[in-house]
Amino acid sequence: MLGRVVSISSDVPATGVPFVEGVDQTIIKRPWPGARARRVSPAQVVTAIAGLGVTCQAGDVKHVFLCGNPALDLACTLRARRTAPFETLDAPDRLGAWYVESGLVDALAPCEESDLALAVEVREAIYELVTARLAGDGYDAEALSLVNETARRPPAAPQLTAEGRWVEATPAQALSTVARHAVELLSGPEVPLMKECANPECTKIFIDRSRGGRREWCGMESCGNKVKAAAYRARKKEAQTAG
Ligand SMILES: [Zn+2]
Repeated sequence: MLGRVVSISSDVPATGVPFVEGVDQTIIKRPWPGARARRVSPAQVVTAIAGLGVTCQAGDVKHVFLCGNPALDLACTLRARRTAPFETLDAPDRLGAWYVESGLVDALAPCEESDLALAVEVREAIYELVTARLAGDGYDAEALSLVNETARRPPAAPQLTAEGRWVEATPAQALSTVARHAVELLSGPEVPLMKECANPECTKIFIDRSRGGRREWCGMESCGNKVKAAAYRARKKEAQTAG
């Protein structure tokens, strides 16, 4: 039996437990534009988490949704690809948590090892296609066929209930939904807005919807402040050496 209601915000703490404000209700933020905002009670969240089989592992790195599109967010679950690659989808339940936290589904059947292996393969294919597009190169045939094949499968189907929209899915359906987002993104009007984060160590690719297209960082907290602080320290050191 799947949990009744869950939609977890991007404010999920490191433990993987949804961030709950107040006793009765928590406001669930939209993790990416287009995702629904929802109000759920802590009890409902707990029920849903239990139903999802999502376990809470201390020390887990929080999933982030800064890219503006679920396909890009999935691609960025392998962080710092060029310098010190860091895998955030390191267990099947971490993938399950990602699907729910992304706002793509409200409840998900438990993820198996095979679901994780396939999701990682599709993620790499999406990254391959996105980076090819950014570089103005042609698509890798294998990556293209994997993403298309995944998108061809049945996606997570939204259902209307008295409370609003409700999406229950299997991991395969959730992955198909992500692949469809990749297809729509790479064939849509936002391709020119795709950018890699200006932090050279960060390899996140996001959609810059800012006015004037001046967004440099995937996030100020994650990269902007870090790079600015490092530049400040470098300038200070230089001034001291010169002095
Ligand atoms: Zn970044």
